[in-house]
Amino acid sequence: MRVLVLLVVVELAATALVVGDLVQLPRDRATGTAALGALGIAALGAVHTELATGIERVRRRVAHASYFDLSSVWTFAAALLLPPGLAGLVVAAVYGHLWWRVWRPAGAPLHRHVYTTATVVLAALAASVVVSPESLTTAAGVGTGSPVAGYALLVLAMVLYVVVNQTLVAAALALSAGRSPAWRGLVGDWDDHVLEGATLCLAVLAALAVQRQVLLVLLVLPPLLVLHRAVLIRQLEERANTDAKTGLLTAAAWRGRAHRALARARRQRGAAAVLILDLDHFKSVNDGYGHLAGDEVLSAVARSLTSQVREVDPVGRFGGEEFVVLLAGLPAGPEGRDLAHSAAERIRRTVRGLTVQVDGPGDGLTICDLSVSVGVAVAGGDGESLDELLQVADHALYAAKRAGRNRVRTGRDGTAPAG
Ligand code: GH3
Ligand code: MG
Ligand code: MG
Repeated sequence: MRVLVLLVVVELAATALVVGDLVQLPRDRATGTAALGALGIAALGAVHTELATGIERVRRRVAHASYFDLSSVWTFAAALLLPPGLAGLVVAAVYGHLWWRVWRPAGAPLHRHVYTTATVVLAALAASVVVSPESLTTAAGVGTGSPVAGYALLVLAMVLYVVVNQTLVAAALALSAGRSPAWRGLVGDWDDHVLEGATLCLAVLAALAVQRQVLLVLLVLPPLLVLHRAVLIRQLEERANTDAKTGLLTAAAWRGRAHRALARARRQRGAAAVLILDLDHFKSVNDGYGHLAGDEVLSAVARSLTSQVREVDPVGRFGGEEFVVLLAGLPAGPEGRDLAHSAAERIRRTVRGLTVQVDGPGDGLTICDLSVSVGVAVAGGDGESLDELLQVADHALYAAKRAGRNRVRTGRDGTAPAG
């Protein structure tokens, strides 16, 4: 309900501000030129979308939640060059065309796209409050003021644009998920910011080109398409590192992260621990409920694993029904060992308490009575390299299985630590 209120308020505010500004524009030559400029920028946005449809089609197949958008090149350029109302119209045109060519064929929900459009309109309006075409001229060193002041205004406009957009999107996400916005969700992904920054820089160059020599703006298109491809590569990379069934890291990606985390622990003179987990008698879950239900159990276990460790601790699917976790940032010595063991115990208990609801005929199925055996190896006492630690953890896992399953074993001798 609250998310609906936010959606309506944001959309109404965007519409009211755009219409309010449009009606008070003077009917003169300058407005006519600006309107022509708006038409030109919207047309360039459409050309960009058309040229990038091939890339977009692949992105759509591989993208999950966050979907980075490069149309800021046109919408931010519009905010720099045009009166706010016209900049709002450019946003609506570019996003309308995007909807038509990219999102509608993908079956995306219209209300989400309308909300995104409204957030971008508000971001563009916020940016256009602090900059004007004169700030651009100043930054280019052609105007009367100091170029540094022009740059500062441009940077401020970029920050405002990103912050307004990001905050509104994060607020809607948090409200629809029914929880307060996570700090990370608000801040977003670092790589996304780098790309957004690059896109906004191109927007400034595009706006300068429009101001100085309009045909030069066409030179923005090739680097923009290359940037677009870079986003696709990043998404493919992310996809290649993610296990499709569980959303965890693949074994290879996990090794990479674990190597880095171990090296960091060594530099900081702390410890790290490797956990290998294997679901007990998982074959009987498959045999009893079917493989699809087994898959649901694997996803549920993966979710509870990630919920039980910190975000910096890489969690991977090692193979079939085996998982690996690296606990980073542990204190060295017995204290670290105890902490690793109790984290493993916590995970074991969580899996034990798991009930997995599986859709099916009638009321579906409820699967419980799951359990997991865990082997733990701690850097320092049990080995230095990742391979050594994996080997020790694997041994400890088998000790846990032999001892009757649903238990944790730590270290070379496969015992629980004292205390
Ligand atoms: P233990 O307690 O000794 O580990 O017994 P277990 O039955 O878990 O061990 P085993 O290694 O014999 O069986 C693992 C099972 O995991 C067999 C395989 O069918 C199942 N499995 C592996 N990958 C998947 C998967 O992606 N989906 C499903 N549903 N099952 C899988
Ligand atoms: Mg196994
Ligand atoms: Mg097993």
